[in-house]
Amino acid sequence: MCGIVGYVGNQKVSNLLINGLKRMEYRGYDSAGISVLQDGKIQTIKKSGKVSQLEKLVDHTLYDSTIGIAHTRWATHGEPNDINAHPHHSSDDKISIVHNGIIENYAAIKKNLQEKGYTFRSETDSEVLAVMIQAIYEKVQCLEEAVRFALNEVDGTFGLLVLSSHEPDRIIAARRGSPMVLGIGDGEYIVASDASAIIQHTRQVVYLNDNEMAIIKRDGFETKTIMNEATTTHIQEIEFDLEHIEKAGYEHFMLKEIFEQPETFRDAFRGRLLADKGNVKLGGLTQVQEKLRQAKRIIITACGTSWHSALVGEYIIENLAQIPVEVEYASEFRYRNTPLYPDDIVIAISQSGETADTLAAVYETKQKGATPIGIVNVVGSSIARETEAGIYIHAGPEIGVASTKAFTSQISVLTILALYLGRMRNLSQSDGKRIAAEILEIPDKIRRILNRSDEIKALAKKQAKSRNYLYLGRGYNFPVALEGALKMKEISYIHAEGYPAAEMKHGPIALIDENMPVVIVATKDEIYEKVISNIQEVRARKGKVIAIATEGDENIKDYANHVIYIPSTLPMLTPVLAVIPLQLIAYYTAVELGCNVDQPRNLAKSVTVE
Ligand code: GLU
Repeated sequence: MCGIVGYVGNQKVSNLLINGLKRMEYRGYDSAGISVLQDGKIQTIKKSGKVSQLEKLVDHTLYDSTIGIAHTRWATHGEPNDINAHPHHSSDDKISIVHNGIIENYAAIKKNLQEKGYTFRSETDSEVLAVMIQAIYEKVQCLEEAVRFALNEVDGTFGLLVLSSHEPDRIIAARRGSPMVLGIGDGEYIVASDASAIIQHTRQVVYLNDNEMAIIKRDGFETKTIMNEATTTHIQEIEFDLEHIEKAGYEHFMLKEIFEQPETFRDAFRGRLLADKGNVKLGGLTQVQEKLRQAKRIIITACGTSWHSALVGEYIIENLAQIPVEVEYASEFRYRNTPLYPDDIVIAISQSGETADTLAAVYETKQKGATPIGIVNVVGSSIARETEAGIYIHAGPEIGVASTKAFTSQISVLTILALYLGRMRNLSQSDGKRIAAEILEIPDKIRRILNRSDEIKALAKKQAKSRNYLYLGRGYNFPVALEGALKMKEISYIHAEGYPAAEMKHGPIALIDENMPVVIVATKDEIYEKVISNIQEVRARKGKVIAIATEGDENIKDYANHVIYIPSTLPMLTPVLAVIPLQLIAYYTAVELGCNVDQPRNLAKSVTVE
């Protein structure tokens, strides 16, 4: 959450920073602001609302500065107004900071500084960093030292950039728990919380580690820990291209990403699935291969949409590999005293690889001596670096705040992982081949559903006035029901519940009347007849049934008010197909209601706060 960008080099900075913010706006859009060093002073402009609001206020002709910092906020402490917007200044206006994260002990620090006569302007936790650095600078007269001392006093997380008129040739960057990437250009540096703000300038980057800081000047940079120990840096290459973070003619990133799924699903297994051998090669797991062979239990931990893909993963791994799997919300896992044993495998799933709770679950896993494995999208992200082994999903940047392609790519990876684990155990080669052959068919089957998007659009339009939705599914499709409901809530603000279909009679059935659309995944499998009974129960209470059914199933038309067909596949692979119409229903409903699909209210991408 929150986008941070800073620049020092030879180009005029204000326009460059605004463009950087626009690239990261999906990370937060409560307010935006920039600070530049102009004529020996810090000049700051900040405004509540989107980056476009800020842009209107910035007269680029006023600035020829070539150094500055900027921020787009996802508010945690203090409402999203102009004053709480970042950057925040020290009381003497000589230091400006932008911050991502939460300073947990800010109240005590603030009180202490106020008692010493320092003044504050905002309600944020972040402002204490600026004032604290000022107070320490007054004693030590060295910006780097002041930042270092301040960071050793704070509890919580930070991605931080500091600009000061005391030492106008540098930006200091630091991180703990929030991402920070330093782009290395030709005589210029651009530092940001997200590589998408950097790619336009350079592909060469250094990912800062936790508790590391960088002192960035025009003629070079230096990294060290916040304890002042020297660190070595590894220059890496950004893996995606600029076109991956543009809309490519689609109205919204979310729609673009929904339509990318035939390719992204394939990219997740490409080069890994050995279809002719009915097996799987996963280079990122080589060093834990023996531990995986011995594992008696797997715990999958995740948040939000990734938690739903984890549930699908649980069913597939248990089926193919016969290893007991538990799925835990990362936020619960990290704070309970979860029993973990050295031969347990903990799989952490996160699109961004920065999800604070999931990252903390990885630390907890290491602490207890079990083996963490990451399934993440963003290369070089914190979870990727903190896990012993892992599998990238290779979905490319996901900009839409409501996750779509990451979900299906995660399932792609979990399916081949299940196959890999199964083939280490009792799964036969012929079963492996049969499953692999069907995985190869999935991209084309997704494409066939997408080709019918107009039909789904018309349905969404018809239903858009509904204020509640119920989503039901059984078996592999229960997590799909949860995911369909989540998409609807996230972007259309319509209340939606996902439930295992058979559980409906234990409560949610009380909600059903003629105004309640009930979306039921009723594909042809061994529990099809049971699901038909659940549909009958809904119909008996006058609920409107929208069924997701298998092509060729004419029978279902007798029961459902509306049928959306998906191609037939193995039951374990239906979630990937069944979720596509649900993503599209949510998308077209939100568009019909005039909602901001890519920037839904109160949400932001990459949840780096707990
Ligand atoms: N905690 C800070 C605030 O509320 C930073 C939030 C962010 O990461 O955008 O302003």
